[in-house]
Amino acid sequence: MLERGQVANSWRRERWDSLRLLTPNWLTRLPGHRYYGADPDGFMTSAELVRFVSGFAEIIDVPVRTETTVTSVQPTDDGYHVFTTAGDLRCRCLVLASGACNLPSVPAFRSAVPHSLECLTPMDYRRPAQLPEGGVLVVGASATGIQLADEVHRSGRPVTLAVGEHVRLPRTYRGRDVLWWMETSGIWNERYDEIDDITRARGLPSPQLVGTPARSTLDLNVLSAAGVKLVGRWAAVRDDKALFSGGLRNHIALADLKMNRLLDTFDAWGRESNREDEVEAPHRFEPTRVPTSAQLDLDLTSGETRSIIWATGFRPDYSWLDVPVLDRKGALRHDGGVVEAPGLYAIGLPVLRRRKSSFILGAEDDAAYLIGHLAAYLDRRQGAAIG
Ligand SMILES: Cc1cc2nc3c(=O)[nH]c(=O)nc-3n(C[C@H](O)[C@H](O)[C@H](O)COP(=O)(O)OP(=O)(O)OC[C@H]3O[C@@H](n4cnc5c(N)ncnc54)[C@H](O)[C@@H]3O)c2cc1C
Repeated sequence: MLERGQVANSWRRERWDSLRLLTPNWLTRLPGHRYYGADPDGFMTSAELVRFVSGFAEIIDVPVRTETTVTSVQPTDDGYHVFTTAGDLRCRCLVLASGACNLPSVPAFRSAVPHSLECLTPMDYRRPAQLPEGGVLVVGASATGIQLADEVHRSGRPVTLAVGEHVRLPRTYRGRDVLWWMETSGIWNERYDEIDDITRARGLPSPQLVGTPARSTLDLNVLSAAGVKLVGRWAAVRDDKALFSGGLRNHIALADLKMNRLLDTFDAWGRESNREDEVEAPHRFEPTRVPTSAQLDLDLTSGETRSIIWATGFRPDYSWLDVPVLDRKGALRHDGGVVEAPGLYAIGLPVLRRRKSSFILGAEDDAAYLIGHLAAYLDRRQGAAIG
């Protein structure tokens, strides 16, 4: 295993200080490695997750070459040539486990933002004290955006949140964590080749969830009640003004509709599987309150806004992969983790083989399948060489 930093590097280097997992401890697992602590319904901090992953690395005892950055991978006649900052290697098979969130995804109009504003991505942001005093524009209302909007607002800075497409989820439903429903009802287990529009499923924003000891819901209603100002999706910059889309109402209506459909699915599953006695009675949540007159632009030079946090998503970095397996948009071409090049595999990408593949717990099943495929590939090659 080659790792440019230390084991669990992304959780050591690329997360903000207060971050806790949004998946509860009982769902945080790696193959044969589980949380056995006293708080199964709690949510690990990044530091706790680093210990959890490091403990796993010790148990499996696979040689990890840390502080070794892969700078290039090139195909050869019988596998791959891997160039690293600590020497070269050759291999017959290669598993890309370099992560789905290496780089922040920021809109191109970022370059038109006046230089007087401090701009951060979630990879640079650590705590509110890093920001200048004054207004903060948080762009994006998925898991990262709502968590950072909440934290920055609590620091006393006025926050405006630009809201595009988002996935609304309550923390708990009928007395159970919403991810209990996702896991137990089998929704998270849905296979990639059974999903109608897999490209869309893989591109969906992360759910509006936060892991806190209080297990509280953090959605747009909670944020706007606390004083966070909601505006539409940030669409462009013109004459030093941020222009927001007029589609906020539609985005909100769609997210509410989808959440209610999901709750209907949970209810139907509860009835059909006779699990009703494990949960409380069905109910529905208050619809998201739409601002009566959402602001459509914001003067970025007025001094009202002093900083911007781009919580607009992440993307993988394959700049070192010199194998022709990327599509026009730079995404890896693969079929459930089997990449379109002999002996090349990927793990740790959104909805790789199942919906749950986007999360830590998904690696368990994905690895089992891919290792089987990889071993069969090596056996076939071995057989061909002997024959
Ligand atoms: C802000 C945030 C919050 C998240 N919260 C949750 C959560 O609550 N629950 C959950 O289940 N999932 C969560 N996720 C998703 C989570 O990151 C993944 O489930 C998990 O970390 C994926 O592990 P991974 O090993 O595949 O990728 P990563 O953790 O990204 O690890 C990839 C590793 O590859 C190394 N690497 C990359 N490029 C190179 C190179 N060229 N050479 C050498 N090494 C390289 C990196 O240093 C890194 O250590 C979150 C993601 C983000 C961004």
